[in-house]
Amino acid sequence: MKLIFLGPPGAGKGTIADLAMQELGIPHISTGDLFRAAVKNGTALGLKVKDIMASGGLVPDDLTIALVAERLAEGDAKKGWILDGFPRTIPQAEALEKMTAADKVVNFEVADDIVVGRLSGRRMCKTCGKIYHEKNMPPKVAGICDVDGSPLYTRDDDKEGAIKVRLDTYRKQTAPLIDWYGKKGKLLTIDGVGAPAAVLQRFQAALKK
Ligand code: AMP
Repeated sequence: MKLIFLGPPGAGKGTIADLAMQELGIPHISTGDLFRAAVKNGTALGLKVKDIMASGGLVPDDLTIALVAERLAEGDAKKGWILDGFPRTIPQAEALEKMTAADKVVNFEVADDIVVGRLSGRRMCKTCGKIYHEKNMPPKVAGICDVDGSPLYTRDDDKEGAIKVRLDTYRKQTAPLIDWYGKKGKLLTIDGVGAPAAVLQRFQAALKK
């Protein structure tokens, strides 16, 4: 099964993808995670994208498409995948269609005020990338990852100025993909508000229909 998760930043795509990948037995491929790993490792790609990411803007299409093409060529992606955070522009969607077509595109709908609350409270593990929320999904010990005991941090792009840029970018560049995939008859729309378990259930039900 090849799935694309669409929705604004903070819609819960990463959280639901992490839960769904275990059940479906396919990898969760997040372009944001791949870029963050490149930044952390100080690779040539990481140096190019660091400031763009911190500001909340989009990495150029050519770099992003090349990264995804490389990742989809890996062995574990043969049986399917969940793409989280890609495509984010029409040219990226067109490039993906040329590589391989997704079976379904899942659009997580969440209102702006909820998105802002989720992003500003989001905390991430420095080592494994696990996502927490200081109120909605806190770790057992404040500031420490339950999985590996590493410190949690706030992403630069989860700070106030960058959140606004990301939402504007989403509206202008990514939201047009909802119609684009709708016309192809691939779109499933899910209410993304509520606890992860409830959203996961809605996703599973929509997938079965
Ligand atoms: P995310 O973790 O999906 O919110 O992505 C974090 C940041 O990585 C974004 O704000 C962009 O700067 C960059 N990024 C991730 N995916 C893409 C994409 N498909 N196209 C362009 N930039 C991306």
